[in-house]
Amino acid sequence: LAGYGGPVRADPGPARYLAPQLPVRDRVDDLLGRMSLDDKLGQMTQPERRYVTPAEVTRYRIGSVLSSGGSAPEPNTPESWADMYDGYQKAALAGPLRIPVMYGVDAVHGDNNMVGATIFPHNIGLGATRDPALVRRIGAATAEEMAGTGVDWNFAPCVCVARDDRWGRTYESFGEVPELPSMMTTIIDGLQGDTLGGPTSVLATAKHFVGDGGTEGGADRGDTRLPEEGLRAVHLPPFRAAVERGVGAVMVSYSSWNGLKMHQNRYLITDVLKGELGFTGFVVSDYNGIDEIDGKPGFTKDEVAAAVNAGIDMVMVPTEWRRFIGYLRDAVKDGDVPMSRVDDANRRILAKKFELGLFERPMADRGYLRTIGSAAHRALARRAVAESQVLLKNDDGVLPLDDGDRVFVAGRSANDIGMQSGGWTITWQGRPGPITPGTTILDGIREAAGPDATVAYAEDGAGVDSSYDVAIAVVGETPYAEYHGDRTDGLGLDGADLKTIDRLRAAGVPVVVLLVSGRPLDIAGNLPKWDALVASWLPGTEGEGVADVLYGDADPKGRLPVTWMRSGDQEPINKGDGKKPLFPFGYGLTYDD
Ligand code: BGC
Repeated sequence: LAGYGGPVRADPGPARYLAPQLPVRDRVDDLLGRMSLDDKLGQMTQPERRYVTPAEVTRYRIGSVLSSGGSAPEPNTPESWADMYDGYQKAALAGPLRIPVMYGVDAVHGDNNMVGATIFPHNIGLGATRDPALVRRIGAATAEEMAGTGVDWNFAPCVCVARDDRWGRTYESFGEVPELPSMMTTIIDGLQGDTLGGPTSVLATAKHFVGDGGTEGGADRGDTRLPEEGLRAVHLPPFRAAVERGVGAVMVSYSSWNGLKMHQNRYLITDVLKGELGFTGFVVSDYNGIDEIDGKPGFTKDEVAAAVNAGIDMVMVPTEWRRFIGYLRDAVKDGDVPMSRVDDANRRILAKKFELGLFERPMADRGYLRTIGSAAHRALARRAVAESQVLLKNDDGVLPLDDGDRVFVAGRSANDIGMQSGGWTITWQGRPGPITPGTTILDGIREAAGPDATVAYAEDGAGVDSSYDVAIAVVGETPYAEYHGDRTDGLGLDGADLKTIDRLRAAGVPVVVLLVSGRPLDIAGNLPKWDALVASWLPGTEGEGVADVLYGDADPKGRLPVTWMRSGDQEPINKGDGKKPLFPFGYGLTYDD
C-alpha cells in the first residue's frame, strides 16, 4: 500500500477548503484540486461497519460507512454508538486531507436500531394521520435522537407509492397515491432542519428511486411495468417534492423499470432526477444494488461502470468494497468511466459534508444523548399513534370504552413491543418480544382504564366469559422486512389469531378487533362477526396512543392511506372493475358517525 493515495500535488497552497466562511462551492473546488484519484474513489465507497476497520477508513480514504438494519455496535447503548462513530470519524480525519466520513443508518421510524430510542409508527400509520406538521416534528425528534450518537445520515424517508399489498415493504409507504408521500416529505425538513448545518441536522434520503412500490405482483426487487407517463404520474411526484425540499440524498431502487434495472438507468437517474428535477445532492446505490444489474450474483467491472455512468455517486458496497475500488480505478484508467463523472460525484458528496458542518463539528455531540427516548419524544409518538388509528367498524357504538367496563384483552400483539413495532426495529426483520423499552397496547389499556378497573388478559383468550363487558383482540402480522414480507397466499389473517377471536366471540361478549399490521389483510369473511375494527398499523413503542382512542381520550381521526381489498385476489389495488373494495381509500369513522 505504499504510496496509496497517489501523488500529492506539488504546491497546493493554503487549505482554503478548511475555511468555514468561504462558500461551499469554493471549498469543494479547493478540496477537489488536492485529491488524488484514490482519494476520490474512497469518497464514492460505502462499506458496512462489520467489514471495515477504522484503520482501513484512514488507509483507503473511505468516504462513508453504514450500519445496515440492526447492525449495532455492542452493547447497543447510545454511548456505544457514539464511541463507534467517533472511532470512524477520528480515523477519517487522520487521512492526509482530513475529510470526515458520513455515517448512514436506516432510522425509518425513529432511530430504530438503537435500544431505548423512541419508535414512531411506521410510515403507513403516519400516512393515515394526514398530518404533515406532525410528521415534520417526528423527523426533528428522530434527528435529535441520532445527533448524540454522531450518526449524520438517515436512509429515510421511503417515499414509495405502494400499489400492491402483497409487497412486503407496503408499511414503509405513506400511502398508495403519490399525494400522500409527497405531502409527508415534511419529514425531510424535520430531519435536515432549516439548513443542513443545524446542531441536530441529519442528511435525509428519498428512496427508492423509482417505482419500487409498483412492481408486478408486488414482488420486492421486481419489475415495474408501466409506460413512462404512468411512472411519472404515480411514482415520480414524491421525488419531485423531496427535491423541492432540498433532500440531500436519493437512493436507487433494486427494482427494474420495464425490464431495465434502476441501478443502470441513466435516463431516469441523470436526465430526469438530476437534470429535469434539478437534484443537486448525491445519489447512493442500494445495499449491493450494483450486483443486481446483470442478474448474476456479485458484481463485475462492467456493472461498476454502468452504475457510476448511470449517475450513481456513492456505492453502498458493504463487503466487497476493496474490489469495488479496484474496478472503478480500472474503469477510469481504461476510459470506461470519465474522470468528469468521478469529479461530479465527489463534488456532490463533498458539498453535503460541508453543508452538514462536518469539517467544523465532526464528532458526536453527546449532549443530545439525553434526548433518546425522552418523555417529550414519547409523548409525540403517542400522539402520532393516536392520530394514526383508523376506525373501520363500530357497531352499536361499542367504542369508545367506558372506564368502568370490564375488559378482556387477548391476542399475540396485545402485550408485545416487538409485534407492535414491526420490521426495522432493533434488528433488520424485527421480532416479537420485549426488544426495547416501551408501553404495550395492553399496558396502555390498563393505564387508560385506571387502577380500579377490571382488565384481564390471556394471549390466547383462555378464561374469557360472559361476565366481561367487552373483549379486545389485538392481532395481526409477525414482524418482517425485505425477503420475508412478500405474500402470495391471499393475505389472510393468521390461524392462531382467528382462533383467539373466535374464542372471545364464543363467550358472547362484544368483540373489538385491533389489527396490528403493516398492510390491509383479507378479513371480509370474518368482519360480520366482529363488532368493531380498528386498523392500528405498526404503532411502535407507545401503545398508550392506541388506548387513547379506545377510551375516547383522543378521537379517531385516521383515514385509510391505502384501499382495503375485499379479497386477496383484488391486488394490485382496485384490480377487477366493478368489484368494490371492503373499505375505500380515505375511509375512517369517527365516534360521531
Ligand atoms: C434496503 C434499503 C436500506 C439499505 C441499507 C437495503 O436492503 O433496501 O432500504 O436503506 O438496505 O440498510
